[in-house]
Amino acid sequence: MAEIQLRNIGKRWGSFVGVDNFDLTIADKEFLVLLGPSGCGKTTTMRMIAGLEDATEGDILVDGQRVNDMEPKDRDVAMVFQSYALYPNLNVYENIRFPLRVRGVDPSTHDEKVRRASAMVELDDFLHRKPAELSGGQRQRVALARAIVRQPNVFLMDEPLSNLDAKLRVSTRAQIKNLSHELAVTTIYVTHDQIEAMTLADRVVIMKRGVVQQVGTPVDIYDRPANAFVASFIGNPAMNLVEGEISGGTFRAKHVEISGLNVPDGTITLGFRAEDANVAESGGQINAPIYTMELLGDATMVSVRIGGALVSVKADKNYRAEIDETVSISVAPEQCHLFDATTGARVG
Ligand code: ATP
Repeated sequence: MAEIQLRNIGKRWGSFVGVDNFDLTIADKEFLVLLGPSGCGKTTTMRMIAGLEDATEGDILVDGQRVNDMEPKDRDVAMVFQSYALYPNLNVYENIRFPLRVRGVDPSTHDEKVRRASAMVELDDFLHRKPAELSGGQRQRVALARAIVRQPNVFLMDEPLSNLDAKLRVSTRAQIKNLSHELAVTTIYVTHDQIEAMTLADRVVIMKRGVVQQVGTPVDIYDRPANAFVASFIGNPAMNLVEGEISGGTFRAKHVEISGLNVPDGTITLGFRAEDANVAESGGQINAPIYTMELLGDATMVSVRIGGALVSVKADKNYRAEIDETVSISVAPEQCHLFDATTGARVG
């Protein structure tokens, strides 16, 4: 069992704030993903939990016990990094066994534990190979097996898929999801890839410049982003965001007029998702020249430019039109997200 409490933890280097006031309880067996752009403080948060970095503020508790002053080796956590950090002169079997040896685990149990961990990541046939004789995906699986083998209470994974090619990333992602279900261990997973976050997480924490922007289930965050930054970070493609004026419940920007919105008059950032809008015959709320069209296989993504922003809508895969031809796009007011134009905070 491992519930992790982060009580207003922070990290400062001189006057620079790397992580600010991070306050969250991570439930036993939860799969929590830290998501955000480069430099937002994800790795630093994780390193504080691992004990590789001192928290300059706040308390870290594991099952109610404060661990701030505990050495990394005494915290029952296993880490998997983007660089696999395997020992090149040891074969797969010995690499996986390594944590058992250094932790003084009863040697008579090693073989069974190594074989069980390697079977879980489907490496049974590679135990005698050296890391140099493996593909990137296989090396990452050795790193996963090495983390699994000692049955820790907490897994910390820092971008474990980022060195893999796109196809391998998808299959290894599925394997991590399956493993986490099987192992049922509290996991904190760092990524800047929103698809990884959405597919793996029980809850996602979105960070920006050291500050938590929103914590929620993937569905919560997708359906109700707390601010324009979160809205622009989650979803594929990112949510369309257009700045304009609201007056009497009608939003207006060049090429756009959407009525039936329930917010006070003023400047607003209006958002909607490509999948929540349709190409209309005519009479849609957006009428603008086509900027580009992309075939996705199951759909055609049609994009127009509004102000500086690219606004995309998912059309039928058989939709055909010419660039610069005017397209009419319909979007229901209830599919619109409204954000304060200055602060980005959700207002409707
Ligand atoms: P990435 O996705 O690029 O790994 P990240 O979200 O994991 O980014 P962190 O590595 O946690 O970001 O870094 C957060 C901020 O803290 C960055 O601005 C980084 O430059 C800064 N930082 C990290 N380590 C130090 C350090 N030792 N001294 C000063 N600043 C640091």
